[in-house]
Amino acid sequence: MVHDHEGPEDGDIVAPSAKIPVPAEVSDAIRTLIRWAGDDPGREGLLDTPQRVARAWKEYCQGYDEDPAHHLGRVFEEVGGYDDIVLLNGIPFQSHCEHHMAPITGKASIAYLPKDRVVGISKLARVLHGFASRLQVQERLTAQVADCIWDKLRPQGVAVVIEATHGCMTARGVRTPGVGMVTSRMMGVFRDDERSRQEVLKLMGY
Ligand SMILES: [Zn+2]
Repeated sequence: MVHDHEGPEDGDIVAPSAKIPVPAEVSDAIRTLIRWAGDDPGREGLLDTPQRVARAWKEYCQGYDEDPAHHLGRVFEEVGGYDDIVLLNGIPFQSHCEHHMAPITGKASIAYLPKDRVVGISKLARVLHGFASRLQVQERLTAQVADCIWDKLRPQGVAVVIEATHGCMTARGVRTPGVGMVTSRMMGVFRDDERSRQEVLKLMGY
């Protein structure tokens, strides 16, 4: 396998390995993991588990098969003079952390201040889900969503705040259920202008 660059840039499709494993290899790997966990992959309740897990992981990670920026390809330039904040607040999402492959469960608030074009509001959620359906770290997810909107819509400002709990923290390690992590990325006026930032954070409920 040849890599011609150092690593994925924000917004890039993270290319899966050139060698896609065949289903039998995936099932073998999951049986190994079951044995590693201390159980018997041959017992009745676990017989179909490898295939189920394989299917589930394809679904969790379907974001690798898309470029989330495509969702912002259709813009409306007729905004009727609207020049205020557009906010999609508290969008629930699921992702998986790349360090433990454990679930990340949270909600994201995504706002932008349009300059001359807007998108259908549901597209913002699609961008989020596209990046979330990959192995992630919350910081990068936040940045990728914000950068994607910034690049495609060229707005006056973008604000993304993500609040999430991490299975790798709540179910193992320090075991701290209920503790959420908050990340944010402010761009344009929301970064440069304190009043605009306060306004968008207040709209988001912070
Ligand atoms: Zn983790």
